[in-house]
Amino acid sequence: MQKAYDIVIIGCGPAGLSFASSMIDENVKILMVEKSSVESLSTPMPDGREIALTHLSLKILKKLGVWDLVDQSEVSLLREAKVFDGDSPSLLNFKSDDSSIEALGYLVPNYQVRKALYQRVSQADNIEIITDATVDNVEYCNEYSKVIFTDNNTVEAKLVIAADSRFSNIRRKVGIPSLMKDFSKVMIVTKMTHEQSHNNIALECFDYGQTLALLPMVGNASSVVLTVKTDQAQKMLDMSEQDFNEKITQDFKGELGAMMQEGKRHSYPLVGVHAQTFIADRFALIGDAAVGMHPVTAHGFNLGLRGQDILTTLIKEALTHGQDIGSKPLLKLFEKKHINLTRLMFFGTNGVVALFTNDAPVVKQVRKMVLKFAENFPPIKYLISSHLTEAKANTSSPLSKVLNKLPF
Ligand SMILES: Cc1cc2nc3c(=O)[nH]c(=O)nc-3n(C[C@H](O)[C@H](O)[C@H](O)COP(=O)(O)OP(=O)(O)OC[C@H]3O[C@@H](n4cnc5c(N)ncnc54)[C@H](O)[C@@H]3O)c2cc1C
Repeated sequence: MQKAYDIVIIGCGPAGLSFASSMIDENVKILMVEKSSVESLSTPMPDGREIALTHLSLKILKKLGVWDLVDQSEVSLLREAKVFDGDSPSLLNFKSDDSSIEALGYLVPNYQVRKALYQRVSQADNIEIITDATVDNVEYCNEYSKVIFTDNNTVEAKLVIAADSRFSNIRRKVGIPSLMKDFSKVMIVTKMTHEQSHNNIALECFDYGQTLALLPMVGNASSVVLTVKTDQAQKMLDMSEQDFNEKITQDFKGELGAMMQEGKRHSYPLVGVHAQTFIADRFALIGDAAVGMHPVTAHGFNLGLRGQDILTTLIKEALTHGQDIGSKPLLKLFEKKHINLTRLMFFGTNGVVALFTNDAPVVKQVRKMVLKFAENFPPIKYLISSHLTEAKANTSSPLSKVLNKLPF
C-alpha cells in the first residue's frame, strides 16, 4: 500500500516552507518534497536577492514564528523610495504618510528568509521533508491525489500543493495553462559598499537602455540591481570588478561616492508568469508557481506569503469543522480570494515595466507626464504607498474596494 498523507507540498522554496510553517502543530500529516539537497535548505548561500517585505508579510512571518529566527542584524529599513526617469527631473517620491509606521518596508537577504523558514519547519513533528527527490506528476483519484516521483515511487494525499517555482513542471502536467511573459532582459544583482550613506532610500532609475535600482542594506552598503537586455548581460557579468565599480559609481552620478562590489554578481533571466487558474481537483498552486512577478515591484514573495496565508486559514477552518481539506468549495474560495489581486499586480506591473523600459520618444513623453501627474496627485501616491506597505491589511482599503468590484 502506498504511504498516505493529508498534504503533500512540492518544493521547499520560500512559498512551500511558509505554507508548511503555517500548518505546524495542526492535526495533519504533511510531506514536503524537494529536489535539491538538505544542505541547500539548511545552509542556503547568499544569492544576491534582497527581499523587500511589506508590513503584511512581516505580520505573517511573525505569526509563523519565523521572524525571530531571521538574523536581525541583516534587516534594513526601507524609509523612502524614489523613481527617476532618465536624465529628466521627473521624479516620483514615496514616503510613508503614516507617522506610526517606521518604514515603507523591510529589506532582508533572501537566504536569511529561507534559512529561518527551514529552521522552523524542520523542527515540526507533523512535517516530514524528503530531499534529493523530484516529483514527476500528480494524478487525481477521487478520494485522494497520487504523487508520482521520478523513481516511480508514489504517495497519496488529500491535497497536493505545488510550490515548484515559476517554471512549474507540475502545473503543466496537471493541465493548468499559464501566461508567460519573457521580457528578454536579465537582472544582475550584487552587494556594493559606498562612501556616502543611502539614508535608507531605495532608488529606481529608468535610464535609457538599462534600469538601475539601489536597495539600502545595513550600513554603507546596498544591493545594486542592474537590468539589461539579454545580449548585453554576459558583458556585464564578465566585466572586471574595477570597471564594474567605475560604471556603477558613474551611473549613480557619484551621489554615493565611490562604489565597490562585495561578493559575487548574480544573474536572473526576467520571465513573468501567471497561471490561468490556481486550482485543480485536490490540487493548488502557491508562490511563483501561481504567479511569478517581475521583481521590479518586489512583490513575488509577498504575494506568495499572502496566498499561503489565505489557503492555510481556509484549511484550518475546515479542520475545525471536520470537513474535507481538499474539497472543491474550499479550493474555489482560496482562488477567489487570491487571484484578483495577483492578476491586477501582474498585469499592472507588466504595463508599468513596458512604459518605463520603452525608449521610443513618444513613450518617453508619456511617462514624463505619468510621473508628473502621479507625483502631484496625492490619491495615486496614497494608493501606491499604502499598497507598498500593506500596513493596514483590511478589506476596506481603497485598493481592496476597487479589487472587489473587478469582474474577474
Ligand atoms: C532578483 C530578484 C529579486 C527579488 N526581490 C523580491 C522582493 O524584493 N520582494 C519579494 O516579495 N519577492 C522578490 N523576489 C521574488 C522571490 O524571490 C520569489 O517570489 C520567491 O523566491 C518564490 O518562491 P517559491 O517558493 O514560490 O519558488 P522557488 O524559490 O523557485 O522554489 C521552488 C522550489 O521547488 C523545488 N522544485 C521544483 N520542481 C520540483 C519538483 N518537481 N520536485 C521537487 N522539488 C521541486 C526547487 O528546487 C525549489 O527549491 C525577487 C526575485 C528575484 C529573482
